[in-house]
Amino acid sequence: MSFNIPHYLNLFKTGELHERAVQLESILGNCTLCPRNCKINRKDREIGFCRSGYLPIVSSYCVHHGEEPVLSGKKGSGTIFFSNCNLRCIFCQNHQISQPEKSRRDKEMSFERLADIMIELQSKGCHNINLVSPSHFAAQIVKALEIAVEKGLKIPLVYNTNSYESLYTLKLLNGIIDIYLPDIKYSDNNNSFDYSKAEDYVRCSRAVILEMKRQVGNLILDDNDIAIRGLIVRHLVLPNDIAGSKESLSFLSEEVGRETFLSVMSQYFPTHRANENLLLSRPLNEEEYEKVLNWLDMFGLENGWIQEYSSRDYYRPDFHKDEPFKKINQVAG
Ligand code: SF4
Repeated sequence: MSFNIPHYLNLFKTGELHERAVQLESILGNCTLCPRNCKINRKDREIGFCRSGYLPIVSSYCVHHGEEPVLSGKKGSGTIFFSNCNLRCIFCQNHQISQPEKSRRDKEMSFERLADIMIELQSKGCHNINLVSPSHFAAQIVKALEIAVEKGLKIPLVYNTNSYESLYTLKLLNGIIDIYLPDIKYSDNNNSFDYSKAEDYVRCSRAVILEMKRQVGNLILDDNDIAIRGLIVRHLVLPNDIAGSKESLSFLSEEVGRETFLSVMSQYFPTHRANENLLLSRPLNEEEYEKVLNWLDMFGLENGWIQEYSSRDYYRPDFHKDEPFKKINQVAG
């Protein structure tokens, strides 16, 4: 099987993509799409923890030049930011769209429109379709993907997730997603509950990262150093070791594999409700960040990217603007 052709094209040809779309859509009737297991009927406009109904909601989309170099390349990553979230991170850097003050139901769009956005980004030359916060819209994405493939979509899909995913849903994405881009946010469930309202985050995120690795394997690049398949794990370092970086790096090294591509991020700045919390109310200091970089060496994690310590000075997306990332040059590099 060629790695240059997204596997979802093969699934489309055999009818398997349609089958998966049907299976995923059926979950929405008693929603267990993510570990919240709200069991509400999203097809009947009921709303669960993620505040999202049946139709997809996109806050913004753009050609993004600030992702990891293997995703952005020269032509950019075709990034689609979904509204709402299944976590409640008090420090969320994208809180304007993930935890909006007002309901975003008026922004719901048709599956056809979501497919058209994918096609538009492809026609702009993007290397991939980068689905940001897709977990609570996984079913809707696959339904739209089927339409997009009919219209000619043929670039890899990037699943850019907080890792609070259901294993069952993830298994239905096998062969559909080319590149998994999961966060590893915490290594302590007390912290994941206190700061993101998810008491089982550690177990869930570790299980899904292992499943992602099983599905797509290590990162594969094309001749132009653009990612075509594989796993890239992101880790945002938090002040006062809230992220439990050492334990997460140890897990990645020992259980996912030392060859795993890792993107270590220093861009944290207190935003949203972080200032209400003593431990999160300041940026990361240089000493804390250096310590994490030393652990990378200690655990033999050599592949990937580390942000410069000063990254928080230029990573300030504003989703109230048409171009949220206008001033950014590069997030990771
Ligand atoms: S996707 Fe939303 S409604 Fe479904 S289980 Fe998760 S939080 Fe609940």
